[in-house]
Amino acid sequence: MRLVCSECGYTFESKKMVNICPYCGAKNSLHREKTVQDLLDESEDF
Ligand SMILES: [Zn+2]
Repeated sequence: MRLVCSECGYTFESKKMVNICPYCGAKNSLHREKTVQDLLDESEDF
């Protein structure tokens, strides 16, 4: 999966969920980056 840090915007590829950003060290700031498919799935809700 691809993770993105909401604090610094750093994105990186990871095989598992990580709680601490390896770039800025912020805790619980990482979330999965939305893929194009995710955006398409969401748009179907409208
Ligand atoms: Zn960060």
